[in-house]
Amino acid sequence: MDLSIVVPLLNEEESIKELYTWIQRVVSPLNWSYEVIFVDDGSTDTSWQVIEAIKKESDQVKGIRFRRNYGKSAGLYVGFEAAQGDVVITMDADLQDSPDEIPELVRLVKEENYDIVSGWKKKRYDPIGKTLPSKLFNRTVRLVSGIKLHDFNCGLKAYKNAVIKNIEVYGEMHRYIPLIAKQAGFNRIGEKVVQHQERKYGVSKFGIERTIKGFLDLLSVTFISKFGKRPMHLFGALGTLMFTVGFLSSLWLGASKLWHVYHNVAARLITDSPYFYIALASMIIGTQLFLAGFLAELVSRNGHERNNYHVSERID
Ligand code: UDP
Ligand code: MG
Repeated sequence: MDLSIVVPLLNEEESIKELYTWIQRVVSPLNWSYEVIFVDDGSTDTSWQVIEAIKKESDQVKGIRFRRNYGKSAGLYVGFEAAQGDVVITMDADLQDSPDEIPELVRLVKEENYDIVSGWKKKRYDPIGKTLPSKLFNRTVRLVSGIKLHDFNCGLKAYKNAVIKNIEVYGEMHRYIPLIAKQAGFNRIGEKVVQHQERKYGVSKFGIERTIKGFLDLLSVTFISKFGKRPMHLFGALGTLMFTVGFLSSLWLGASKLWHVYHNVAARLITDSPYFYIALASMIIGTQLFLAGFLAELVSRNGHERNNYHVSERID
């Protein structure tokens, strides 16, 4: 199959039919074999009935329905599992992403050999409360990830099939798919400026709390990729460092006290010195960090992913 279009949706009953007709209008003339996978993420409106109705008229449609709402990442995950196309495109169901972009996105992946092409809503039709945090967010992710994308969170993206089969999107990690893919070894990440529309029906499904969650997730993604498989290298190093500092300081405190006593110079009690408490705290924290690293090491050693490497080719 040439193309899979994965559309995660939550309560988008007014948009689905219109979106599907538009996709058909663009893709049908190209004579590709394709499928459109609607993932209903636990909608409480008639979204699923709309999908069923479309399925009756058209063979290219697949529907997956969650019993409850799990979040966009979960929707993408099961959509990716089902996708069979050589190129996989994701788009939002709310008509904010334009299906007109599909042919060019497919061309970039197929002919220019990109692993991922991410949409860039250069001119956005969203309220300022969304665009401003988004700018800050993108700048931070660019800095941390080293991936030069302007719009990480764009719902419209195209992937090589191998990419989506080799990454796992969970929690709210859909914002970091390019980053997760890069960590899995997919380096050709491109960008295309895409048309963006104002939301025509319904309301946005994400509030301002997405910014906070987004930043926390960024910490997790980078931490897991760097130290997920060797936590001791971080915690052990920090722990050893802190313990050593604390230990040497208390050694010095004790030695200077003894020196004072030996030479009959008046000296204050060790417990009167602030350094004593700093040294003590430092040793305790150091030990704790070391233990945390040790426990994390035990946990990751039992993880089923401990030997999960991404082999791209083999010669036998
Ligand atoms: N969505 C989803 N599950 C959720 C939240 C959102 O499948 O829990 C879908 C939603 O229906 C839409 C897409 O994800 O197709 C993007 O959501 P939205 O348009 O609300 O986000 P925004 O445009 O405000 O970033
Ligand atoms: Mg939207």
